[in-house]
Amino acid sequence: MASTRSNARIIRFGIFALILIACGFILTQGSSFNAKSNTATPKAENEQADVPAAEQWSEKDKIKATFVSLARNSDLFALLDSIRQVEDRFNRKFHYDWVFLNDQPFDDAFIEATTALCSGKTKYGLIPKENWGYPAWIDQEKAALTRERMREAKIIYGHSESYRHMCRFESGFFWRQAAMEEYEYYWRVEPDIKIFCDIDYDIFKWMKDNGKEYSFTISLPEYKETIPTLWEETQKYIEANPKVLAENNLLDWISDDKGKTYNGCHFWSNFEIASLNFWRSKEYREYFEHLDRAGGFFYERWGDAPVHSIAAALFLPREKIHFFEDVGYYHVPFTNCPVDPAIRFGRNCHCNPDKDFTWRGWSCTTKYYTINNLKRQKNWEKYT
Ligand code: GDP
Ligand code: MN
Repeated sequence: MASTRSNARIIRFGIFALILIACGFILTQGSSFNAKSNTATPKAENEQADVPAAEQWSEKDKIKATFVSLARNSDLFALLDSIRQVEDRFNRKFHYDWVFLNDQPFDDAFIEATTALCSGKTKYGLIPKENWGYPAWIDQEKAALTRERMREAKIIYGHSESYRHMCRFESGFFWRQAAMEEYEYYWRVEPDIKIFCDIDYDIFKWMKDNGKEYSFTISLPEYKETIPTLWEETQKYIEANPKVLAENNLLDWISDDKGKTYNGCHFWSNFEIASLNFWRSKEYREYFEHLDRAGGFFYERWGDAPVHSIAAALFLPREKIHFFEDVGYYHVPFTNCPVDPAIRFGRNCHCNPDKDFTWRGWSCTTKYYTINNLKRQKNWEKYT
């Protein structure tokens, strides 16, 4: 009798132990499933490596990256607006540094307010005169005549001298500033932008882990009147340096006739997350030098957006360029708002999809999807 009772006890204990083991198994399965679904990455189809979501991220995952904003003291409050959004949507979890650059010294009010809002280290760089002004070979009278002509032709920023210094600086010098030296990647942030969605993963690390060197959120054609000879000068540079062309480049995105002419398509460079080493490369430095000698930053009104974009499209293999469909973004007057509700609500976006520019006729991103054979967002056809 005693042994029957203890046998029953052993059986009961065994069943209890089995239930415990089963519970443990289900629990661990559950948490690894959660971890996986929390591992926010830009998109499933077109991409490779995962990076840890904010919850699993630690300081040791941090890469050498910074935000960078070119600004005047008078841009302070418009820039604080941008900083607040970037911090709330992304950087409060990651605390990346922020570099501020200016052709004039930043004043105390600017430094105090930006330091207070940024969750990472802040740095303030005064741009050397050689990087913001006329190079010796520029005929300043010819430059002034261009501005006069473009003012009359009502070409956007055509009359502006400072805008030209800005575009030349963003093309050839921001990445050479001492304050930028220690970094590998940057995110350019302008005053008065909006970030509409949560970025719950380390977007810099994602760029690096996936071998991306340049990324964008909005693309569109440039005003042809601002760049009459930019393509001609690009062709001259390529003819003299044919090796700079990457295999599998994006020429078919920027030219509709195999390189004879430029169609104007460019990444809108007021948003950029990109590799500094790309601009530091010999092919880009020499390309910039060639353009700078040609004088079109002053005799025309070449923007840094077409300059960066042509270089990225020609000197990088296309797989190193990335469209961030999940970063809801606005810079006057265009919006990137994910039209797929799964993305929009999944990332807590607060933008209006009716304002999305991505799939509209004037956008170059549709062509980017077509030539790269990318899977379009669900619902895109309702927003053309
Ligand atoms: P848009 O986006 O093409 O309309 O040009 P913005 O006026 O936004 O200028 C582009 C960027 O350069 C912004 O980050 C501005 O704050 C900055 N910027 C423009 N002009 C100047 C300038 O004269 N000095 C400085 N320090 N920053 C400038
Ligand atoms: Mn701007």
